[in-house]
Amino acid sequence: MARWERMFRNRDDSWWKNGVNFTCIPDCGRCCDEPGGIVYLSREDATRIAKNFDMTVKDWLSKNCRTTLDGRFVLESKPEDGRCIYLAPDKTCTIYEVKPSQCSAFPFWRENLVSDRAWQKTKAMCPGIDHPDAIVIDGNAIWVKLEQDRIAEDGFKFI
Ligand code: SF4
Repeated sequence: MARWERMFRNRDDSWWKNGVNFTCIPDCGRCCDEPGGIVYLSREDATRIAKNFDMTVKDWLSKNCRTTLDGRFVLESKPEDGRCIYLAPDKTCTIYEVKPSQCSAFPFWRENLVSDRAWQKTKAMCPGIDHPDAIVIDGNAIWVKLEQDRIAEDGFKFI
Protein backbone atom coordinates (compact mmCIF):
# COMPACT_ATOMS: atom_id res chain seq x y z
CA MET A 1 0.00 0.00 0.00
CA ALA A 2 1.34 3.43 -0.94
CA ARG A 3 2.29 5.77 1.88
CA TRP A 4 -0.44 8.27 1.07
CA GLU A 5 -3.04 5.48 0.99
CA ARG A 6 -2.01 4.51 4.50
CA MET A 7 -2.39 8.16 5.47
CA PHE A 8 -5.97 8.20 4.18
CA ARG A 9 -6.90 4.94 5.84
CA ASN A 10 -5.27 5.84 9.15
CA ARG A 11 -6.63 9.34 9.28
CA ASP A 12 -7.21 9.18 13.03
CA ASP A 13 -3.51 8.47 13.55
CA SER A 14 -2.34 11.27 11.30
CA TRP A 15 0.02 13.90 12.70
CA TRP A 16 -2.38 16.63 11.53
CA LYS A 17 -5.59 15.21 13.05
CA ASN A 18 -5.75 18.01 15.67
CA GLY A 19 -5.33 20.70 13.05
CA VAL A 20 -2.57 22.99 11.83
CA ASN A 21 -2.15 26.77 11.80
CA PHE A 22 -2.69 28.38 8.44
CA THR A 23 -4.06 31.46 6.73
CA CYS A 24 -3.97 32.34 3.05
CA ILE A 25 -2.21 35.70 2.77
CA PRO A 26 -3.92 38.00 0.23
CA ASP A 27 -1.89 38.65 -2.93
CA CYS A 28 0.94 36.42 -1.71
CA GLY A 29 1.04 34.19 -4.80
CA ARG A 30 3.94 32.08 -3.57
CA CYS A 31 2.15 28.78 -4.26
CA CYS A 32 1.40 29.87 -7.85
CA ASP A 33 4.79 31.37 -8.61
CA GLU A 34 6.41 28.08 -9.56
CA PRO A 35 7.90 27.57 -13.01
CA GLY A 36 6.81 24.16 -14.22
CA GLY A 37 4.04 23.84 -11.62
CA ILE A 38 1.16 21.58 -12.65
CA VAL A 39 -2.50 22.25 -11.80
CA TYR A 40 -4.70 19.20 -12.40
CA LEU A 41 -8.33 19.85 -13.21
CA SER A 42 -11.48 18.09 -12.14
CA ARG A 43 -14.39 17.99 -14.56
CA GLU A 44 -16.24 20.43 -12.28
CA ASP A 45 -13.29 22.85 -12.41
CA ALA A 46 -13.39 22.85 -16.21
CA THR A 47 -17.15 23.43 -16.29
CA ARG A 48 -16.97 26.28 -13.79
CA ILE A 49 -14.00 28.08 -15.36
CA ALA A 50 -15.28 27.71 -18.95
CA LYS A 51 -18.60 29.19 -17.84
CA ASN A 52 -16.73 32.11 -16.27
CA PHE A 53 -15.27 32.90 -19.70
CA ASP A 54 -18.60 32.27 -21.40
CA MET A 55 -16.98 29.48 -23.39
CA THR A 56 -17.85 25.86 -24.01
CA VAL A 57 -15.78 23.41 -21.97
CA LYS A 58 -14.31 22.05 -25.17
CA ASP A 59 -13.20 25.48 -26.40
CA TRP A 60 -11.77 26.46 -23.02
CA LEU A 61 -9.84 23.21 -22.71
CA SER A 62 -8.32 23.60 -26.15
CA LYS A 63 -7.44 27.27 -25.55
CA ASN A 64 -6.19 27.32 -21.94
CA CYS A 65 -5.23 23.75 -21.11
CA ARG A 66 -2.94 20.95 -22.20
CA THR A 67 -2.74 17.28 -21.33
CA THR A 68 -0.20 15.29 -19.36
CA LEU A 69 1.51 12.27 -20.87
CA ASP A 70 -1.31 10.05 -19.59
CA GLY A 71 -3.98 12.35 -21.03
CA ARG A 72 -5.26 14.26 -17.98
CA PHE A 73 -6.15 17.92 -18.50
CA VAL A 74 -4.00 20.50 -16.70
CA LEU A 75 -3.82 24.29 -16.88
CA GLU A 76 -1.55 25.70 -19.55
CA SER A 77 1.63 27.53 -18.51
CA LYS A 78 3.12 30.69 -19.98
CA PRO A 79 5.71 29.75 -22.59
CA GLU A 80 8.10 32.49 -21.46
CA ASP A 81 8.47 31.42 -17.83
CA GLY A 82 6.50 28.20 -17.25
CA ARG A 83 4.17 29.86 -14.73
CA CYS A 84 0.39 29.54 -14.66
CA ILE A 85 -1.34 31.51 -17.41
CA TYR A 86 -3.69 33.02 -14.83
CA LEU A 87 -0.99 34.42 -12.57
CA ALA A 88 -0.91 38.22 -13.01
CA PRO A 89 2.35 40.22 -12.76
CA ASP A 90 1.29 41.45 -9.30
CA LYS A 91 1.04 37.76 -8.22
CA THR A 92 -2.74 37.76 -7.99
CA CYS A 93 -4.91 35.10 -9.59
CA THR A 94 -7.00 36.49 -12.46
CA ILE A 95 -9.61 33.75 -11.98
CA TYR A 96 -9.57 33.82 -8.17
CA GLU A 97 -13.36 33.48 -7.78
CA VAL A 98 -13.48 30.30 -9.87
CA LYS A 99 -9.95 28.98 -9.46
CA PRO A 100 -9.32 25.22 -9.70
CA SER A 101 -10.08 23.13 -6.64
CA GLN A 102 -6.47 22.02 -6.40
CA CYS A 103 -5.46 25.68 -5.98
CA SER A 104 -8.12 26.12 -3.27
CA ALA A 105 -6.88 23.01 -1.49
CA PHE A 106 -3.28 24.22 -1.17
CA PRO A 107 -1.31 23.70 1.08
CA PHE A 108 -3.37 20.65 2.09
CA TRP A 109 -2.09 18.34 -0.62
CA ARG A 110 -1.21 14.72 -0.02
CA GLU A 111 2.49 15.19 -0.69
CA ASN A 112 2.62 18.08 1.79
CA LEU A 113 0.78 16.25 4.57
CA VAL A 114 2.32 12.83 4.17
CA SER A 115 4.73 13.56 7.03
CA ASP A 116 5.65 16.33 9.42
CA ARG A 117 8.92 16.62 7.52
CA ALA A 118 7.08 17.22 4.23
CA TRP A 119 4.94 19.84 5.99
CA GLN A 120 8.03 21.66 7.27
CA LYS A 121 9.34 21.74 3.71
CA THR A 122 6.01 23.22 2.56
CA LYS A 123 6.20 25.75 5.37
CA ALA A 124 9.54 26.96 4.02
CA MET A 125 7.79 28.16 0.85
CA CYS A 126 4.32 29.06 2.22
CA PRO A 127 4.35 32.05 4.61
CA GLY A 128 0.72 31.37 5.58
CA ILE A 129 1.66 28.29 7.60
CA ASP A 130 2.11 29.30 11.26
CA HIS A 131 1.72 32.96 10.29
CA PRO A 132 0.91 35.23 13.31
CA ASP A 133 -2.61 35.72 11.88
CA ALA A 134 -3.10 32.01 11.15
CA ILE A 135 -6.10 30.16 12.54
CA VAL A 136 -6.35 26.48 13.37
CA ILE A 137 -7.60 24.48 10.40
CA ASP A 138 -9.08 21.41 12.04
CA GLY A 139 -8.63 17.80 10.95
CA ASN A 140 -12.05 17.57 9.30
CA ALA A 141 -11.44 20.67 7.18
CA ILE A 142 -8.03 19.29 6.20
CA TRP A 143 -9.65 16.01 5.21
CA VAL A 144 -12.07 17.86 2.89
CA LYS A 145 -9.14 19.66 1.23
CA LEU A 146 -7.27 16.37 0.80
CA GLU A 147 -10.29 14.92 -0.95
CA GLN A 148 -10.50 17.99 -3.19
CA ASP A 149 -6.86 17.52 -4.13
CA ARG A 150 -7.31 13.79 -4.73
CA ILE A 151 -10.30 14.25 -7.03
CA ALA A 152 -8.51 16.97 -9.00
CA GLU A 153 -5.37 14.91 -9.33
CA ASP A 154 -7.36 11.91 -10.58
CA GLY A 155 -8.50 14.40 -13.19
CA PHE A 156 -10.33 13.60 -16.39
CA LYS A 157 -9.29 12.77 -19.92
CA PHE A 158 -12.40 13.02 -22.04
CA ILE A 159 -14.94 15.78 -22.57
S1 SF4 B 1 -5.26 29.29 -11.34
FE1 SF4 B 1 -4.88 31.02 -10.00
S2 SF4 B 1 -4.55 30.09 -7.96
FE2 SF4 B 1 -4.30 28.44 -9.49
S3 SF4 B 1 -2.07 28.38 -9.95
FE3 SF4 B 1 -3.06 29.75 -11.47
S4 SF4 B 1 -2.84 31.81 -10.60
FE4 SF4 B 1 -2.52 30.35 -8.93
